[in-house]
Amino acid sequence: MALNFEKNQDNLVPAIIQDTRTKNVLMLGFMNHEALEQTMKTGKVTFFSRTKNRLWTKGEESGNFLLVEDIQEDCDKDTLLIRVTPQGPTCHLGTDTCWGEDNKTTYGFLSHLEGIIASRQENASGDQSYVASLFEKGINKIAQKVGEEAIEVVIEAKDAHDDRFLNESADLLFHFLILQRARGFSLDRVVDVLEERHKAVT
Ligand code: AMP
Ligand code: ZN
Ligand code: ZN
Ligand code: ZN
Repeated sequence: MALNFEKNQDNLVPAIIQDTRTKNVLMLGFMNHEALEQTMKTGKVTFFSRTKNRLWTKGEESGNFLLVEDIQEDCDKDTLLIRVTPQGPTCHLGTDTCWGEDNKTTYGFLSHLEGIIASRQENASGDQSYVASLFEKGINKIAQKVGEEAIEVVIEAKDAHDDRFLNESADLLFHFLILQRARGFSLDRVVDVLEERHKAVT
């Protein structure tokens, strides 16, 4: 790794620390040449701490080490991206990330949609909102809708209209999210089950 440490006067490069699995940024620290070497040698992220003015292995007191999965330099070799598996909360304030966030996986627009579905359930006024009206009708009706949409997906799978197949698939996924919410669950709980099964196989 031919990193340009001399670019900054203090011979330090920033290292972005990202969780391999969730993709969340956990913290940012600085590394000199020695810190990077030690990180590669030990497999535990080691910074040069400007506060302590010495090498600092994250977790040396707390035990919350950052186990290295992958190290990459950026386009002009002056910044590191280090993917890790954290062994506990990363921030010394006790939160998962140094920005006070939970280190949970988000599923892009699907997570956004889950948030909208949850807010419709909380402010249920069925006159304006289809989702709110479904929650008012209750779980049996919601489950029935999932069944209907699943059958429509099956029907559309058999003919050549891609747009119909995709539309019914979207209907199914949408109502599936509503059903999860009605049972008090969310997509990440379902994914947890899939991950656990995967671990059992590998
Ligand atoms: P640790 O490396 O987790 O054993 O923590 C040792 C000390 O390093 C703490 O008492 C803090 O002063 C500092 N520290 C730990 N984690 C962070 C962090 N994410 N950002 C900045 N300073 C930290
Ligand atoms: Zn750069
Ligand atoms: Zn912090
Ligand atoms: Zn449909």
